[in-house]
Amino acid sequence: MPLIMETNRAVYGSYAAELGRLEATGSLRALPQAESRGRWISRDGRRMLNLSSNDYLGLAAEQSLAEEFADSLHSTSSGGGWLPLSSSSSRLLTGNHEAYGALEERLAAMYGRESALVLSSGYHMNSGVLPALCDRRTLILADKLVHASLIDGIRLCEGRCVRFRHQDYAQVESILEKEAGAYERIFIVTESIFSMDGDLAPLQRLVEIKRRWPSVMLYVDEAHAVGVRGANGLGLAEECGCIGDIDLLCGTFGKALASVGAYVVCDRVIKEYLVNKMRTLIFTTALPPVNVAWSLFIMERLQLFGGRREHLDRISSEVRKAFALRGMQMPSGSHIIPMIIGSSADAVLRAEDMQRHGFYVLPIRPPTVPEGTSRLRFSLTASLKEEDIAKLIEYETGFSETS
Ligand SMILES: *Cc1c(COP(=O)(O)O)cnc(C)c1O
Repeated sequence: MPLIMETNRAVYGSYAAELGRLEATGSLRALPQAESRGRWISRDGRRMLNLSSNDYLGLAAEQSLAEEFADSLHSTSSGGGWLPLSSSSSRLLTGNHEAYGALEERLAAMYGRESALVLSSGYHMNSGVLPALCDRRTLILADKLVHASLIDGIRLCEGRCVRFRHQDYAQVESILEKEAGAYERIFIVTESIFSMDGDLAPLQRLVEIKRRWPSVMLYVDEAHAVGVRGANGLGLAEECGCIGDIDLLCGTFGKALASVGAYVVCDRVIKEYLVNKMRTLIFTTALPPVNVAWSLFIMERLQLFGGRREHLDRISSEVRKAFALRGMQMPSGSHIIPMIIGSSADAVLRAEDMQRHGFYVLPIRPPTVPEGTSRLRFSLTASLKEEDIAKLIEYETGFSETS
């Protein structure tokens, strides 16, 4: 036993006791050792269909794209094709490689907005934007189910925050009627496709609310929708025709876009303000230029992936319909499809059974989801084939008939 643990026995013991409590309630987490390849994933020597990936368009699994990118590095005029593997510094110091400007200009042009700001990750974005923009005269209205990164950002904000009931916009309006006058600015914060239920926020409804209250700003996290929704893959705001009405339109590169990082599309004044005030931009080493160039490479091709988007849409709707037919509650309107089980222990058992049958699905438990709504979360990708979906539905039908 390491000596340090001897000297701080009580402290270490308190952490060990909490881990014991997590284990007892089926809530202990561990880093899984798994290797993915295409639509397959291998874990503990078992190969399974990967139904838990965020590679929604299957681009990360597409070796030919990576090869094309590598070739482009050798052939471009930009400095003999050399792109540094580290920025070595914050963008505010020496880390602002020209790749950043190129990506931000491209994003702004694609969205038809004044500007875009690229950040190190969705977590940096969501934990940094609101603390930069909010002060004591700011009210934040955030959906009860927004992502942990947004909640952490809100915790760092001055001013007041109300978490409204999930998608209850009547509650939002009633708060605004009573309290809007007392604040200089109000942020309504939501995801466009929610991570755990896969349901869609009615963005047009939010835009109507914004029009009625001139101090309202809309903050929409499109982490699960970019690449996947909209004719050009720009997200749900594109599909709903309201890109120009969302003050802070936020996307991430780590999921469908097969890269790393995040971006906010916004007006120029907001970008300039964030560059001056946003601590998770200022006090962190910039993403390596090679990653930024890869994000740009993907963005330039985003339009071309319409076939993948359609395929994903088709198989997702098949799974949703099949699950709904078995009497399951089906909030989802997307490729993220929950199978709500109830207790954590049951969700774990069910996930194990599916894995034994070759379907890699993971249980999602509190505190990620509310108590009593532990679930399996299917996250479909365009790499999956019709025959895979048929097998999944067949297995699921067999399960509900025997239990
Ligand atoms: C994944 C996710 C994030 C975090 O993005 P990263 O780039 O992985 O840090 C933020 N918001 C939502 C809704 C997400 O699903």
